[in-house]
Amino acid sequence: MARYTGPSCKLCRREGQKLFLKGERCYGGKCAMERRAYAPGQHGQGRKKSSTYGLQLREKQKAKRFYGLQETQFRNYFDKAERKQGITGDNLLIMLETRLDNTVFRMGFASSRKEARQLVTHGHFTLNGKKVDIPSLQVKAGDVIAVKAKSTDSPKFKEIKEMTISTPEWVSMDTEKLEGKVLSMPTRSQIDTPVAENLIVELYSK
Ligand code: SF4
Repeated sequence: MARYTGPSCKLCRREGQKLFLKGERCYGGKCAMERRAYAPGQHGQGRKKSSTYGLQLREKQKAKRFYGLQETQFRNYFDKAERKQGITGDNLLIMLETRLDNTVFRMGFASSRKEARQLVTHGHFTLNGKKVDIPSLQVKAGDVIAVKAKSTDSPKFKEIKEMTISTPEWVSMDTEKLEGKVLSMPTRSQIDTPVAENLIVELYSK
């Protein structure tokens, strides 16, 4: 699957919002949004006036970039969300949030979704005792994600053992055991993704 390999900070500047794509750097003074909080390019500091379509498009782009997905993947999630019972926007965000890579990030195994995806594809985790390396896999309530025995001695995970990690309500993390659990499926109110999903639904419903 093709993936965006350009500068991450440019994406935040384009959306006019921190998307937290680079881990630690996002929380310090080196964050590009702290220094140049305007869109990249020659007209980045120009007048901003968006049509309804423009606002809907930006919201979709923001969500897509937040979770590190390509257009087709994102559209597929939307189509599935629409077919499910319930509110399409909620379904969409819950599906994105319960991807394996995002869950690994939420549990605190990685400092960004990008790093989480890389750790998963490199086969550092087990899901309910079985090795997994598919970032898009959907987790469910009761699932246990743990660092594979062979990987526990790596400096990355040794460091986590020393950390105190705060997680969202729907997951727990045992840093000593390097093991996280999905306590329940997240509700929309437990997902802090700064996206107005109703605009995405409007965009795709045209
Ligand atoms: Fe976005 Fe992080 Fe870059 Fe700041 S440092 S602009 S939050 S990716």
